[in-house]
Amino acid sequence: MSKDNVLKKQFAEKDVNRLRNLVKGKHANKSQVSIGYTKEANKIHNEGDVWTEGDKTWTIKDGIKQNVTKLDKAREAVNFPIFCPSCKKPMKPHLDKKWFNMFRRCFNCQIDFEASIRRAGLWEEYEKNMFNSDVDGLLGEFELWINDQIEHSTIQSYITEAGDVEKWTGSTKNKLLESKEETIKYLQSLKKT
Ligand SMILES: [Zn+2]
Repeated sequence: MSKDNVLKKQFAEKDVNRLRNLVKGKHANKSQVSIGYTKEANKIHNEGDVWTEGDKTWTIKDGIKQNVTKLDKAREAVNFPIFCPSCKKPMKPHLDKKWFNMFRRCFNCQIDFEASIRRAGLWEEYEKNMFNSDVDGLLGEFELWINDQIEHSTIQSYITEAGDVEKWTGSTKNKLLESKEETIKYLQSLKKT
């Protein structure tokens, strides 16, 4: 299809929606998705915000207000292919989904793969690597989190539950740095050698 035809098609679709609204008497309805705006309390939402309106959860993604459940479903459909990348056989969502998410292959392929590893006498090595990569993932997440905490620890005072204003003497940052070091050391020590 030429570029012109694509534009014509998009225009036609928009027009059809507008006509449909006119026919239904919804003159005020915009046929395009409203952007960054929700009726409730005239609140403006920003990209990435998640909030509830009625019984639905909404978010703003790519500048467009979208239903979170719908997004999840779309993401799932994209992330779970019809055929196993390894054996090319159709996958069964109820059985293979869990395995695909973890290993990028269907249940049967994973069974075969693990059997071949056992046959090769590499099971212990394989298990160790799996465990260590889990710990690495955890380490990465922890570092992101604590670095964020450290970055935002420059606040000079806060109000206690009793209503007093307490000054921070900059020790918060040091405490965070200390606990960062300790936790990283601990997580590293969990790794199998
Ligand atoms: Zn497979």
